[in-house]
This record gives sequence, C-alpha cells and structure tokens, in this order.
Amino acid sequence: MMIAFYGRYHAPQESAAVADCLSGEVASDGAYARRLRQWFGGFGVAPLLFTPSGSHALELACHLLRLQVGDEVILPSYNFPSAANAVLLAGGVPVLCDVSPDTQSITAQSVARRVTQRTRAVIAVHYAGIACPMDELAELCEQGGFSLIEDAAQGVCAAYRGKPLGTLGRFGAYSFHSTKNYSCGEGGALLCGEPDLQAAEIFRDKGTNRTQYLRGQCDRYTWQSVGSSYVMSELSAALLHTQLAHAQTITAHRLALCGIYRTLLQPLEDQGALRIMTVPDYATPNGHIFYVRFASGALREQVQAHLLSGGIDARTHYVPLHLSPMGARLGCRPDDLPESKAAAEQLLRLPVHAQMSQEDAQRVAAEMNKAVNK
Ligand SMILES: *Cc1c(COP(=O)(O)O)cnc(C)c1O
Repeated sequence: MMIAFYGRYHAPQESAAVADCLSGEVASDGAYARRLRQWFGGFGVAPLLFTPSGSHALELACHLLRLQVGDEVILPSYNFPSAANAVLLAGGVPVLCDVSPDTQSITAQSVARRVTQRTRAVIAVHYAGIACPMDELAELCEQGGFSLIEDAAQGVCAAYRGKPLGTLGRFGAYSFHSTKNYSCGEGGALLCGEPDLQAAEIFRDKGTNRTQYLRGQCDRYTWQSVGSSYVMSELSAALLHTQLAHAQTITAHRLALCGIYRTLLQPLEDQGALRIMTVPDYATPNGHIFYVRFASGALREQVQAHLLSGGIDARTHYVPLHLSPMGARLGCRPDDLPESKAAAEQLLRLPVHAQMSQEDAQRVAAEMNKAVNK
C-alpha cells in the first residue's frame, strides 16, 4: 500500500454544512464566518479577518505597512514565495536572511545581520508550525522601530510560551490551504490589532467601509481608499468550520505520528546519520510537518529513493528564495545564506496526515532505518 505525502481530513458533517450554507448566505462574512470568529475567539485569537488564502493575508499585512520606495522587509530565504511576493506587491524590497539549522526559522541574530536604515518590518515564518524565538525578535523590532509580522500559515493552533501563533506580532497570517492541518481547499486569515483593523477591513472590502455599515456604525457605505476583494466565501467558511470542530482530533493524530517518528528514528540520530527536528521548549507544536536533516545531501537522496521504491512518498521542501530565478533577478548571490542552502539539500519531510495510521508511521520509520543502513 502506498503511503501518500498528503491526505486531507474529511469531517463527518462537511457535506451537510455546505448544503446548509447553500440554503442561506453564500457571500462573505455570514453566519459561518461569525462561528469561525467565535471559535478562534475562544482561545484569544481575535480579531481576525478571513481571506481567500494565506498569501492574501500576507499581502494585506504588507499593504498596511504603507511602504515607501526602497523600504525593506526582512524574511527567511528558506521559505515559500508568498511573503516575498507580498512585500514586492506592496512596493517594498524583500531582504532575505538565513535560518537556524535547528529550526529552519529565523533568529534575532540572522535578522540583525540584515538590518539597515531602510528596514521597516520583519516577517517571522514559523516553519513546520514551530514557533520562532518571538521575545528576541520582538525586542529587536522594538529597538529598531520596525513591525513584526508572523507568517503563521503552518502555525494554526500552535503556540509560543502558551500564546497562539499569529497573535504575537503586529500582523499574523494563517493558511487553510488543503495541504495545511485544518483546511477548506483554499483560505486564510489576517490577524491584527485594533489600530490596524479598520484599514484592513476597508482594504479587503473593495476599499469601502461596508464592514462598519454591517455593524450599524454608519448608515451607508462608500469608497474610502484603495482596496480589493480579499474575503472568504461562506462556502469555504462552512467547510473550515467542520474541520475546526475536530481540530483537537486532527492535531492529536498528527502529534502521535510525529511522536512515533521521533522515537523510532532516535537510533539514526544517535549514529550521526540525521538530526531530528528540534522543538524548542517555548514552542507548542501542532504536528504540521515532521522533518529530519541528513548528514549529507547524498544520504537524503538515497533514503528518499528507497522510501519511494517501497511506496512511501517523503518530500524535500523549499528551493531557497535566494537560489531561485526570481532571487537572482533581485540580486541575491548563490553563496549567500549557507544554512538555507544546506536545509534545501539535507531536509526530508515524512508523511503526516489524517489518512494514515500509526502502523503506517512505524512502517515509514522501519524503512528509514533500512535505507540508512543499507
Ligand atoms: C502555505 C503557506 C503559505 C501560503 O498559503 P496559501 O493559503 O496557500 O496562500 C505562505 N507561507 C507559508 C510559510 C506557507 O506554508
């Protein structure tokens, strides 16, 4: 039997919820968006605005920075392109920094090396749903007078020192893409504080104050400023709501799979073949990704090929942005940022999802052991 890399969780009531939605409001910000806000509000995640994707949430955050020509935003090279695109679309300059070999995320030191007079913000990407060192990053940003944005696309329901990821910076972005833990196909959310909320609402609702109008705060709505339609359909909100109703089950299952990998791969770490992902003690994980970093790129290739021949789909991850064609156009040099390059060569993600069993995880780990010691 094939063990796929991804597998979406199917909530029992998902068809019923979509049917229910079809009988009522299907545009944005209806009953299901309200329920989602309540659900997140239940553990202190508020306010949040649902968007068509995590990428849209990052765009909204960068737009609200009101960047001037030449303003810089620091973010990791070992990353998906969304945050860098968001900076460019907002008229800024993405400045790529290196990551820690322990967490594959930014640190205050790696960011500090890239700070200039033009730095306006830092985007902390919580890779694998493992929190970045937020206290150090917040202090650096406060000292420099720039904003901290969290790309918590992978960090929904994960925490830093007990506080939900996405709520620790000026802005936070969530993703509900089908590859994420809790999904509705395509979807996202922007988290921000009260000072940015009204501008965020206006931008995402075609540049109008319709959201205030719906709250009864004005008697008609009008064009206020430049904007677009960054809203989530109620159909998506209904799907997402059924998933979140089972969030604890989803998370517990993923964490159990990760626990099996961690235990059964320990001998390989002890023999120096690989390093198991680090979870710092300040981070509460959500089981989004389980990864290892091999001692060499060659060993990673050997193991990945062995797993695939046994029907197990394990995956590498990002091509660092500084090594991409777009990175070259932005003036990055290939020998910059060695840890991001090493992560790209050595990292392997193992399957973790709702449709695999604990026995599947045991089989993956057994094949890993065979592959390394072949
Ligand atoms: C998934 C992801 C995104 C993009 O989210 P979408 O909802 O697919 O737009 C952005 N950043 C990171 C780190 C991601 O993992």
